[in-house]
Amino acid sequence: MSTTPVATSSRLNHVRYEIRGSLAHRALELEAEGRSIYKLNIGNPGLFGFRVPQHLRDAVAANLDRSEAYCHQQGLSHAREIIAAQQRSRGVTDSSVERIFIGNGVSELIDISLRALLNPGDEVLLPSPDYPLWSAATLLNGGTPVYYSCSAENAHFPDPEEIEKLITPRTRALVVINPNNPTGAVYSRELLSQLVRIAERHRLVLLADEIYDTITYDDAEFVPLAPLAGAVPCLSFSGLSKLHRACGYRIGWLSLSGARARTGDLHHALDLLAALRLCANVAGQWAIEPALTGPDTSAALTASGGRLHEARRAVLDSVASSCFLNVVAPQGALYAFPAIDRALLPGFDDEQFALQLLEQESVLIVPGSSFNLGTRQHFRITLLPQPAELRDVFSRIERQLARGAEP
Ligand code: PLP
Repeated sequence: MSTTPVATSSRLNHVRYEIRGSLAHRALELEAEGRSIYKLNIGNPGLFGFRVPQHLRDAVAANLDRSEAYCHQQGLSHAREIIAAQQRSRGVTDSSVERIFIGNGVSELIDISLRALLNPGDEVLLPSPDYPLWSAATLLNGGTPVYYSCSAENAHFPDPEEIEKLITPRTRALVVINPNNPTGAVYSRELLSQLVRIAERHRLVLLADEIYDTITYDDAEFVPLAPLAGAVPCLSFSGLSKLHRACGYRIGWLSLSGARARTGDLHHALDLLAALRLCANVAGQWAIEPALTGPDTSAALTASGGRLHEARRAVLDSVASSCFLNVVAPQGALYAFPAIDRALLPGFDDEQFALQLLEQESVLIVPGSSFNLGTRQHFRITLLPQPAELRDVFSRIERQLARGAEP
């Protein structure tokens, strides 16, 4: 009998998603051996004791009997109307139900959108660091990621001049992740307007990943991109996973905006691709109306004294008292992206460190280079644990770094 392994698609050759990669597998092995591991690799609120708000759970439970059939490929129309109304209230004045697509999480819609847009060799401008699904979906759909830098030196903001220099005749789209995962940067209205002007000048499609929406800290304000984009074609992504802590419901949405004369074919392509996968999880869609029209359940978490606010405080205090670490304080989202001082640890390698931290200190974090970042001195940690747990985690990180500093 042949023992030749089944060949897999070469399209996967450069596709990586290390957030759930080899380190996460190793953590599961260690747990199976009886070790207790701090798993801080995923922004998964349900794993850290956060519940889906009661009024969302009630809506899903109350409508289970109405969730047995496939729905329209773009989603339940009443839920799309609620999303369109939110878009209108945010300034996308002509948003309407047929320009909203509900998906099985933003993840599915990112893939569908890039599939709708890209031809082989088309270039997509992505932030570095990025949320690695964006690179993966670009590659899987025949595109080429071209990275613009969002380095710590520039407080993790992009430089519009650099972005413009990266544009070629093959550039199709500009991806903006705001609030940003993994860095926590929150972009100003002025910066976003500059990005819109670049898209306008070069006829790019804007892809605005806004899944963290109004999860912001201190005085940071989330500014949605689509209202600034006006006639420029823009796909804005958000959903229930983060702000509403319902990531297991797998509900995200995409709002298409921009001059209708320019977005007609794109609309048709999105509709076709949505139809091929039939529809999004119907039961979860009943949570959309209460999520968008009910009480704001996340403001208390990010306000002073709230759990996420205090978790962020614990991280910032821990980094401030570290001998080795520095960090640009996250202004939004659910992560911090600290860096190691290379002057103190010249041979530091983020992947090696992450493995040693897991093996020796039972802490699972994600190395910065997993986010398509050229440098290797960062790591990402989620702000979802209790503040006391984060303090314990950072004391373990410090111990591990000190081992690396030993002569
Ligand atoms: N975009 C960003 C920036 C994310 O961080 C995530 C999940 O962590 C997603 C998209 C995917 O979210 P969803 O659960 O809606 O698929």
